[in-house]
Amino acid sequence: MNRKTEVMVIGAGVIGCAIARELSKYNINTVLLEKETDVGSGVSKGNSGVLHTGLYYPKGSLKAKLCVEGRLMFPELAKQLDVPYNLCGKHVVARTEEELDDLDDLKAVGEGNGVKGLTIISGEELKKREPKMDGLYALYSPVAGIFAPYLFAIALAENALNNGVKVHVNTEVMAIKQLNNGFEVTTNKGVFQTDIIVNSAGLYADKVSAMVGLDNYKLYPCRGEYLILDKKCNGLINSMIYPVPPKVAGVLGVHLTPTPSGNILIGPSAEFIDSREDSRTTKEKAQQLIEGAKDLLPSIPLNEIIYGFSAVRSKITPPEEKTSRDFIIQEDLENLINMIGMESPGLTSSPAIAKMIVEMINQKMDLKQKADFNPIRKRIMPFHEASRAEQATLIKNDPAYGEIVCRCEHVSKREVLDALNNPISDKTLAAVKYRTRAGMGRCHGGFCLPRIVQLLKEEYGLRPEEIKLKNLDSTMFIGKTKDLRETAKDE
Ligand SMILES: Cc1cc2nc3c(=O)[nH]c(=O)nc-3n(C[C@H](O)[C@H](O)[C@H](O)COP(=O)(O)OP(=O)(O)OC[C@H]3O[C@@H](n4cnc5c(N)ncnc54)[C@H](O)[C@@H]3O)c2cc1C
Repeated sequence: MNRKTEVMVIGAGVIGCAIARELSKYNINTVLLEKETDVGSGVSKGNSGVLHTGLYYPKGSLKAKLCVEGRLMFPELAKQLDVPYNLCGKHVVARTEEELDDLDDLKAVGEGNGVKGLTIISGEELKKREPKMDGLYALYSPVAGIFAPYLFAIALAENALNNGVKVHVNTEVMAIKQLNNGFEVTTNKGVFQTDIIVNSAGLYADKVSAMVGLDNYKLYPCRGEYLILDKKCNGLINSMIYPVPPKVAGVLGVHLTPTPSGNILIGPSAEFIDSREDSRTTKEKAQQLIEGAKDLLPSIPLNEIIYGFSAVRSKITPPEEKTSRDFIIQEDLENLINMIGMESPGLTSSPAIAKMIVEMINQKMDLKQKADFNPIRKRIMPFHEASRAEQATLIKNDPAYGEIVCRCEHVSKREVLDALNNPISDKTLAAVKYRTRAGMGRCHGGFCLPRIVQLLKEEYGLRPEEIKLKNLDSTMFIGKTKDLRETAKDE
């Protein structure tokens, strides 16, 4: 392993991956380090997946600027990286006359930030567009969109890797020492040297900063929980449906978000918590989400809720403050660029953040573009998206397409094998899930889990006890029930 590098990006969430991919356009030695077994394993995997337009951030803030720029950059990038998205638009719904003033305010903020096409529509017009919705007025934003955030992170990292960035997962930065010219970085996989550090460690960015003695940042973890409705609800809403935001810093209120795969997300909640690792879901918040969803859409089919998940925001704004603080993106120490408080709209902003960071680095090193940079990356081809005729040809050429491993999401054996052979992550169940959606359907792995375990056994000789859910310590099986029973009897 080459341990001397020019730029080290710490943290492979969507922002770190976007920076690594942007850097891969230039002749510069870059390494991307991630402590988990896969990229996009932090907050970047579990969020609303919304391409925000810029309605909520004060004019002149980094959030406003980077959100608007990032959203404009996204479609071209998604096309190059083969990441599905849908510019389905968004309605912020006013349910009282007083809330109309809030819509006017949001529209004015959005327009001040350069957002085009914002209109306030009547309740009747809303009903035509969203027959299940009631409301007096709605603010319509035509350019808001949806995408799967984990697919975006994976795509960015794969394209960075193909263009020469070294991506190391399972590599946790544990200490950083400033040298005369650069840094010595100690990880669980050994010591690296780098000229420049980009701290993109998300919820742990304050801790990474403190490793070089900059311990002036404090992040406040704030958990957001979600419920997911089954794909059967596809078409129930045609756009994202938001309430007028509550008067709480950086919180948009429980909204309904259709996903590119046909589910609907209800959420998120917002709850300051003590531990950054506390990503559980709770009955209390599920109940609040249900109430919030019923407020927006009284006929919402709650019997179609198939699952819940949560993600933890990395807030730089303390709970008692009423307005949300801006992103902090700055060179806090020579050659160390910190990114702190990268909460929403961090996902939307990520392409623009990457450009900003590369411009900062360019001012130091005079970067030279690579002649052979290849912007194109292809995703694992989803069998279910092919036409009948294409499916027949695929099966003829490769019978692994003809074997369905995940019935809920119609994922074939070929897709699972391609996911297991991915160039970045370990062969975990999560690597398969986030690349193919196997296990994300209604039965949540009940059908496909034993089949994927069998494939890991047949193709890679792994014993079930060696198979991991996601982290290195997340084994799922401890032995055969019969053997364990015998041992227990002996004891
Ligand atoms: C509930 C919720 C909803 C959201 N919805 C949206 C939305 O709809 N649209 C939008 O634009 N934004 C949204 N966001 C915000 C968005 O998810 C984040 O801004 C974005 O994902 C942050 O990316 P990141 O790369 O900074 O963080 P992360 O994804 O957390 O990545 C940081 C990475 O650093 C790694 N790491 C940490 N410490 C170390 C270390 N010592 N060594 C090595 N690696 C390390 C972590 O494992 C992690 O993978 C939402 C956030 C939440 C919580």
